[in-house]
Amino acid sequence: MITRQTPTKLENIAVLGLGRAGLAAARLALDAGLSVVCFDDQMSSCESLPETCFVPPQGWDWAQLDALVISPGIPHEFPFPHPVAEQARKAGLPLICDIELAIRLQSPSRWIAITGTNGKSTTTALIAHILKEAGIVAVAGGNLGPAVASLNAPGKDGVRVIEISSYQLELTPSLRPDIAVILNLSADHLDRHGGWDGYLAAKRQILAGLAVNGLAILGPGPALDEMAATLSKRADAPALTRLADSYTDADIADNPALPGGHNAQNCAAARAACARLGLTSEQIEAGIASFAGLPHRLQPAGQAGPVRLVNDSKATNAAAAATALQSFEQIYWCAGGQAKEDGLADCLPHLDRVVQGYLYGAAAQDFAAQLAGRLATECFASMDEAVRAAFRAALQASGEPVVLLSPAAASFDQFDNFEARGAAFMKLAASLCQPAGDRP
Ligand code: ADP
Repeated sequence: MITRQTPTKLENIAVLGLGRAGLAAARLALDAGLSVVCFDDQMSSCESLPETCFVPPQGWDWAQLDALVISPGIPHEFPFPHPVAEQARKAGLPLICDIELAIRLQSPSRWIAITGTNGKSTTTALIAHILKEAGIVAVAGGNLGPAVASLNAPGKDGVRVIEISSYQLELTPSLRPDIAVILNLSADHLDRHGGWDGYLAAKRQILAGLAVNGLAILGPGPALDEMAATLSKRADAPALTRLADSYTDADIADNPALPGGHNAQNCAAARAACARLGLTSEQIEAGIASFAGLPHRLQPAGQAGPVRLVNDSKATNAAAAATALQSFEQIYWCAGGQAKEDGLADCLPHLDRVVQGYLYGAAAQDFAAQLAGRLATECFASMDEAVRAAFRAALQASGEPVVLLSPAAASFDQFDNFEARGAAFMKLAASLCQPAGDRP
């Protein structure tokens, strides 16, 4: 992991990568009167930035720059640094992301920062929803939804609720959240952090700047036990709430948009955060009950007779898919794509409710080998074929079968991202749910 370096001043910046966060960073910096140069090898102009900002790195006045705002998606260290990031490091230039700019250039507010391997987006959206329903000015963004630099400052009593990834934590040295949440930790994105220790080091950064009188909300597990122990030894030890190891059916929210024990965990984190900000339990429970859920996270995709289809495209790793496998009975499981480091390991103890695996894409054969002797599987070239086969089998079954897309892998072998994969599944599910004679 890189040593985070706080820019001493922010007058001249360069922006590398003009995705959602990079564009928002450049816009915010320009509005704040900074001098900005930016570069993206896919883009040489855009409507929201003046043409003069577009300068390739060879044309930057490196000696004058105060920081390089780098898109969190661009590797700056592992598996290999982008050449511009390497040049910046050699020049002693701090590497930051758009969240650092929002902290430094915008007016203050209360901050709730949420990280973890799985559940970040749901918990972020849920907390923001509960706060808004209770009449508090709250804005939400970060890894989910709008970039933090594009959020309207909510005022000193307002709350920024941000989802922050391990990549962004490495690039936000001035983060001082009032409440920091780490939901859970399992192997993900290890290639970008040089391994498990680097991943933990990045996640740990959310606690480093926890405000005096702050609250840490930490999930279960040995890595988080160790972080909790270190935290409690600090001279200015913040308050600490631990989330339970597991949740029973009785803990599951009475809201179909928040199924499963994993969502009970997300609700527990949201309760602790909102209570800390002074909300009553009535306000909190009303917010949980009226939360609409997020697309691609156990999203209902259709019903054909007794067969339910569920879109969990956001399950891009095995730990996330494992929670889905525990959320339904009689599952026809569609999984595949580009496998993560640990393959299906986290899913293996949770196959008792799965009838058969329908595996597709780059990981299909590998997943089939991991499941051999534990689960009947069939391999397909594409997600479309796998889902159709699962659906056909489910239609033949009695009971209440669920065709579940919970890929346990990244989407990039066949789709641009998990949203595109989920959208393709939703479309296919809609066509499969047509009356039998109209099905394609
Ligand atoms: P993230 O933003 O961290 O990727 P999401 O809220 O988008 O998290 O959920 C991603 C996937 O992880 C979903 O498919 C869901 O089934 C699973 N998930 C959600 N919350 C949790 C949790 N607390 N623990 C484990 N898995 C979870």
